[in-house]
Amino acid sequence: MWILLAMIGATLVLDGLLLRYLTWAHAAERYAAGRFPDARPSRATRGRTLRLHGATMGLSLTLIVGAAVALQGRLFVDGPVAWWWPPLHALAILAVYDLAYYALHRFVFHHKKLMRYVHRTHHEKRSPSAPDSLFVHPVETILGVATLLGATALLGPVHEITFGLVFLAYSPMNLVNHMGMTFPRGHPLALFNGLATAHHGHHRLDVNKNFATLTTLYDRAFGTNL
Ligand SMILES: [Zn+2]
Repeated sequence: MWILLAMIGATLVLDGLLLRYLTWAHAAERYAAGRFPDARPSRATRGRTLRLHGATMGLSLTLIVGAAVALQGRLFVDGPVAWWWPPLHALAILAVYDLAYYALHRFVFHHKKLMRYVHRTHHEKRSPSAPDSLFVHPVETILGVATLLGATALLGPVHEITFGLVFLAYSPMNLVNHMGMTFPRGHPLALFNGLATAHHGHHRLDVNKNFATLTTLYDRAFGTNL
């Protein structure tokens, strides 16, 4: 259990550093050429923004750490494991999660009768930057983490290192695909330019396209890519 908790902690530190860097880079003159154009600004007050950010961070942390502790020995196991198995298993779980999230986002969050209750909150951000990845309704946060744990359970039980790797890929990716900019070629984060462009298109150009979050694979497969 301690290895998993340490990996979750390290990922949260990485998230914090990445959030700071992306917030700085989005405003920095040297990266201005890659910044996506502004759309209609959000009407959210500072107080509401802080409340939603706090709820997203608190809920995510509680759910992930709570699951890591409560499901130890059932969903998460420890002990000796071949070095190649956790990364391979983690990739399979992330592929299942990406498909499950695609379906959740397309058919539940964007369902015309349900959209206004939950996911509309996140779409108030027409031209998001990294901090806006936290601007989500609490129900959306709960369903997102439940989808991640569900995908893990489908292929579980998993070694604690496996889930540590899953969380390491999943969590910063939510910041990166909302970064609201592309980086110049050669910058390490330029690797994610395509994902950031795709997700920005979902917010700004067509909310009925580009539903997936980790890859563009399922949008291409189901014809919903911009
Ligand atoms: Zn959406």
